[in-house]
Amino acid sequence: MPIGVNSSVGCSSMQRKRAHGRKSFAEIAKECCKIEGIKYYCAIDPDSGCTYIQENFDSGNLVRHFRNKHKTAAEIKGLFPDGNQEKRSRVITKRLVSVDKRTYVEGTIKLVTQHNLPLNCFQWEGLKMLLDPIADAVNIKVSRSNIKVWISAAANKLKSIMAVEMKHKLVSIKLDSASRHGRHVLGINAQYELNGKLVIRTLGMIEVDQRQTAVFLRDKVLETLRVYDLKLDQIFSITVDNGSNMVATVKKINLR
Ligand SMILES: [Zn+2]
Repeated sequence: MPIGVNSSVGCSSMQRKRAHGRKSFAEIAKECCKIEGIKYYCAIDPDSGCTYIQENFDSGNLVRHFRNKHKTAAEIKGLFPDGNQEKRSRVITKRLVSVDKRTYVEGTIKLVTQHNLPLNCFQWEGLKMLLDPIADAVNIKVSRSNIKVWISAAANKLKSIMAVEMKHKLVSIKLDSASRHGRHVLGINAQYELNGKLVIRTLGMIEVDQRQTAVFLRDKVLETLRVYDLKLDQIFSITVDNGSNMVATVKKINLR
């Protein structure tokens, strides 16, 4: 069972204090109460809503109450005998947080698509420690293939949103070719007006062979335009960089 770094540090310092005999359990227990007259109110963990009261101070019962009902707090306060901490299992407090399936799926998609984490990051021990309890709580199974399905569903949704945005509008297309680490990518971007503002959206990033023909590239561009239901008579202009192949590609797209 994994033991949190902070809590083990806390235990050992408590053990040292007790070894030096600085405070008895009764003294610590007293400090964990709110005292009004002769009444002792349990106050070791104010957030617990505990209503335990002692009319007459009885340190034995009080320490027992703390150990049984407020294990974690009692451990932190040093209310367990030395050497006992390791034997007892660590109690992790349940907390009420607002999270649902949608938030969880959105977050995992963003980790991969926006923050460039690899798909196998969900197998990383640290990320699993944080994410698995949430996945259990929202009853979701996280796997490489599930995440691929979520990402592709999200991409399809975005495609249909963009198709609606561009419907019946004039659109300027910009083609960029980029090469990195021996891979060649054709970027297809669209510029159009949306709610009085000019927006630029990426329609596609297509991996191509550097020596692809202009006809092949033209077909890839037309294929991408079809995904968004873009008609050729909506295309206002096509901008390309100076590559001769790209210029030839555009010449093969007959605008009007
Ligand atoms: Zn209590």
